[in-house]
Amino acid sequence: MADRVVTAGGIDKASVSFEEWNDWRWQFRNRVRSLDVLARLSNPPSETLADWQEVLRHYPVAITPYYLSLFNPDDGDDPLRMQCFPDSREIHFSLGGVDDPLCEERDMPVPGLIHRYPDRCLAIVTNTCAVYCRHCNRKRLWDKEKSATRQRLQAMIDYVGRTPNLREVIVSGGDPLMMPEATLDWFLGSLKAIPHLEVLRIGSRVPATLPMRITKGLCAMLRKRRPLWLNTQFNHSREVTPESAKACEMLLEAGIPVSNQSVLLKGVNDDYASMRELLYALERISVRPYYLFQCDPVRGTDHFRTDVWRGMEMMEKLWRNVSGLCLPRYVIDSPGGRGKIPLQPFSFLPEKG
Ligand code: SF4
Repeated sequence: MADRVVTAGGIDKASVSFEEWNDWRWQFRNRVRSLDVLARLSNPPSETLADWQEVLRHYPVAITPYYLSLFNPDDGDDPLRMQCFPDSREIHFSLGGVDDPLCEERDMPVPGLIHRYPDRCLAIVTNTCAVYCRHCNRKRLWDKEKSATRQRLQAMIDYVGRTPNLREVIVSGGDPLMMPEATLDWFLGSLKAIPHLEVLRIGSRVPATLPMRITKGLCAMLRKRRPLWLNTQFNHSREVTPESAKACEMLLEAGIPVSNQSVLLKGVNDDYASMRELLYALERISVRPYYLFQCDPVRGTDHFRTDVWRGMEMMEKLWRNVSGLCLPRYVIDSPGGRGKIPLQPFSFLPEKG
């Protein structure tokens, strides 16, 4: 446990017990959400504070005490801090961007269910996350935290049931592991009861931001729904801690393969050394690097976007130097929802002539 604990109530040195720290509900209840605590932590100049106030009017903040304990809040360039602290560039954006660059809202046959590819669909079951990542491509959904109602979930189940082409459902959010466990159990069970539904996938960042959420009870529940795959999102090697390693190990022991989908983020992981460290760290905990996403052109995330050529150069160097087991596929989700385009290191293309 960290020496200095920062919670919703402020900065505390001593009074958090080991049991509380390792209880995901305590971590969730004590997420830092107020400007007041963030300001006391990092003491920003008054104009920055005014900007943060404006940022929070559009995009809320939530950071678990656990995730806060991993970084230095005084260092404005800390790669973990950058992912969750408000930043004035979220509202003073230069290049524009849009709220829904992948046009997800357009491809919803029923509310919350995106059906774009013939054999799979994606269900948005909650808008709640343990930590709100400033680069998120669903920032448009951050509002009052809530999970989908049973009625809405039932409409999704009914749609999957009457669409025989669908063999896989990706359960997403927000973070599905933040919805009530009984509701998630019912939803997964109802989907698995559909004869043509073969595979479930969950997208969750809790192994990186709230690893205590991976409990024995949760693993036992998920185990019943296999084949079930879990895709998570580690973006920096310092997110791979003993706690997150244990969470991934528990999932793997329950028969749930864990893969990682990073986002390429300027100043966080867009250089060879940082990315290599992340990939090695994932390999050490048996998590397969699956995708590296080019950051989507979401409004207010310009400052995270790295040039594609820089990403390709980095990938090329990784291809030359790093075990193939560690290599993710670098892809860009084409704006307008036309699917993923792989970005191959250019020197591997055949030479002309
Ligand atoms: S955990 Fe996922 S959905 Fe939630 S804020 Fe982060 S990127 Fe967005």
